[in-house]
Amino acid sequence: MSDIKPFKNKVWLATPTMHGDEIKYIQDAYESNWMSTVGENINEVERQIAEKVGCKYAVALSAGTASLHLAIRLAGETLYGKAPVSGGALKGHKVFCSDVTFSATVNPVTYEGGEPVFIDTEYDTWNMDPKALAKAFEIYPDVRLIVVAHLYGTPGKIDEIRAIAKAHNALIVEDAAESLGASYKGKQTGTFGDFGCISFNGNKIITGSAGGMFLTNSEHDANKVRKWSTQSRENAAWYQHEEIGYNYRMSNVIAGVVRGQIPYLEEHIAQKKAIYEHYKEGLKDLPVQMNPYDKKNSEPNFWLSCMIINPEAMCKQVRGEQDALYLSEPGKSCPTEILETLAKYNAEGRPIWKPMHMQPIFRNHGFITKDGNGRANTNAYIAGESTDAGVDIFNRGLCLPSDNKMTPEEQDIIIKLIHNCFE
Ligand SMILES: *Cc1c(COP(=O)(O)O)cnc(C)c1O
Repeated sequence: MSDIKPFKNKVWLATPTMHGDEIKYIQDAYESNWMSTVGENINEVERQIAEKVGCKYAVALSAGTASLHLAIRLAGETLYGKAPVSGGALKGHKVFCSDVTFSATVNPVTYEGGEPVFIDTEYDTWNMDPKALAKAFEIYPDVRLIVVAHLYGTPGKIDEIRAIAKAHNALIVEDAAESLGASYKGKQTGTFGDFGCISFNGNKIITGSAGGMFLTNSEHDANKVRKWSTQSRENAAWYQHEEIGYNYRMSNVIAGVVRGQIPYLEEHIAQKKAIYEHYKEGLKDLPVQMNPYDKKNSEPNFWLSCMIINPEAMCKQVRGEQDALYLSEPGKSCPTEILETLAKYNAEGRPIWKPMHMQPIFRNHGFITKDGNGRANTNAYIAGESTDAGVDIFNRGLCLPSDNKMTPEEQDIIIKLIHNCFE
């Protein structure tokens, strides 16, 4: 490895990529004094995203998490009636949630008093396993809400999940925060659920530095979310309130950044796809696979390139709650070794999102695999013999540097460093 020098400029996992128009739209907001949560940038980004994604209404919000919160509240009120002033719209109700996802997918369930029950992951797309979801409805037949994410920009098994939801009269909140621009059978993610959510966080495929949107075909739902996001003001001369509200509306300055980014969505996706393909080619002689997708039915946005090490090529790796250890072995490696190597050379990778059911905060929540109660066999988990897919993908997988400003030469060095780990 001695011939490789650390990168002078850090190679990142995923950072914002600006193009110049953003500053023009920010300037417009400034000069016209629309420095608030009203203005032309907001109107335009709502119109353009709705058109791009293929839904009737998009409501611009302060974050993807805000969008998920309002979507989940709306789902709760649709199912169970108007939320009490304290306690939330899902109080006392279980909600089926993706397990391998960012915590923002599931936290808003708890804001509304609901209880997330985690559904295991499948190996074909690394998303919610329809078999585990079907099992979960056998165990908890009263559940009426599913919150499902598309991990790393790869669409999940949408048809199967929708069919199960329909059979059980359940609603779907679709978390497309990571998958803006990805499609399934020719339709964009964010349009498959009863309520759709996207994010413009700084690390996403396009960004406003912050921000998110709620997507819907229902005018009623769009109006409801817009009203809640602006403190639930009633149509009166004074501040009149019949419902609890939030300060969740997008700023017109942030919307200027988003507006400047929207024309570059396709370009970013093409760059991310090229990065994915380059890794795939460069790693093909190693005992590893790239994060998989359904080539027949889906086109991911390739937000993050990931790899997973074949079971027989894993060296010994042990993870505690905060740190990890491994034993280096010829011909084998593990995510910890690769991530530590990349870090040493000034490149940023990341472990696979740690499954929610493994998080200390959710330790007492249900977890359902295709075989039933995933909590029944904790001893196997502790011994490293767990058969649930999410834990397995977390143990053997990692996110590779996927920044769209990374050069092919930099990527070749990363590929070489990964090869070195297996020597
Ligand atoms: C980023 C992200 C969110 C949250 O979006 P913010 O805009 O950061 O609030 C939600 N879900 C997933 C899966 C994400 O990756």
